[in-house]
Amino acid sequence: MPLVNKKKCISCKKCVKKCPVDAIDMVKGKALIVDEKCINCGKCIKICPVKAILKDREIVKFKVRSNLKAVKDSLSENKSKKAKNRLVKNQIRQLKIEQQILRETMKGLKHIKL
Ligand code: SF4
Ligand code: SF4
Repeated sequence: MPLVNKKKCISCKKCVKKCPVDAIDMVKGKALIVDEKCINCGKCIKICPVKAILKDREIVKFKVRSNLKAVKDSLSENKSKKAKNRLVKNQIRQLKIEQQILRETMKGLKHIKL
């Protein structure tokens, strides 16, 4: 599903008007795509004047960059090397748990009865 980069969104609402299934809300002045409603037609991506809506293949890079920036910001708040090491290790542990959750969920989805 597409994802809105809130920092780029200029609140013009063109995507909201264009969406054929009313899957875009404005939240705190920024567009937000409701995944449950979106049919992935790509019309919002094409109409956005500032390219604030990311395609599937752009989302991974965007999220990785955001995650790394968040960790770097936290690291800059910590002075001791020990605290920095702990923070990075905790992040890795947390990501491994999330990775396992995603893997198990995907396995479950393949066997879900419709
Ligand atoms: S991809 Fe299509 S359905 Fe999904 S939010 Fe954009 S315009 Fe709406
Ligand atoms: S079209 Fe782009 S800039 Fe305009 S509201 Fe949608 S996401 Fe924001």
